[in-house]
Amino acid sequence: MSLYGDYDSQNIFAKIIRGEMPCYKLYEDDDVLVFLDLFPQSFGHTLVIPKRAEARNLLEIDADNLTKLTLAVQKVARVLADELQPDGVQIAQFNGAPAGQTVFHIHMHVIPRFAEQGLQAHASGKADPAELEKLQARLVKRFQSA
Ligand code: 5GP
Repeated sequence: MSLYGDYDSQNIFAKIIRGEMPCYKLYEDDDVLVFLDLFPQSFGHTLVIPKRAEARNLLEIDADNLTKLTLAVQKVARVLADELQPDGVQIAQFNGAPAGQTVFHIHMHVIPRFAEQGLQAHASGKADPAELEKLQARLVKRFQSA
């Protein structure tokens, strides 16, 4: 059952935290890393992950890291709302494969929602790298002044 099990330090987000795999980073501090989803469900779909917690999901994360993660999610939602002017912001988090989790390092999805635009399927079509780079440059500036 994927809701329970050992933390695998070779998961893709752990590799991104260690700098072994690239990402379109928007913001980083001692506790969290914020980067663009490679398979975005909407324009600006962003992931927020704790750097110091070896937790697979919400059931496992400690209170201190969860607090920092939640505060970071709020900051990300504010920056995305400010820069991209969506009509809504969806926050999502999945625990266990049957619930939709595909990467087993806890993460929060921050998904800008635009009126009358549906969502792309979860973890499906890969974004155009040039578009991600352009969006990254735009959002990094916003995070620097947030
Ligand atoms: P989950 O299904 O576990 O809640 O979400 C995992 C998310 O990570 C999905 O939205 C998927 O598109 C995204 N993802 C999977 N692999 C990578 C990757 O290598 N880099 C980035 N930036 N996102 C990824």
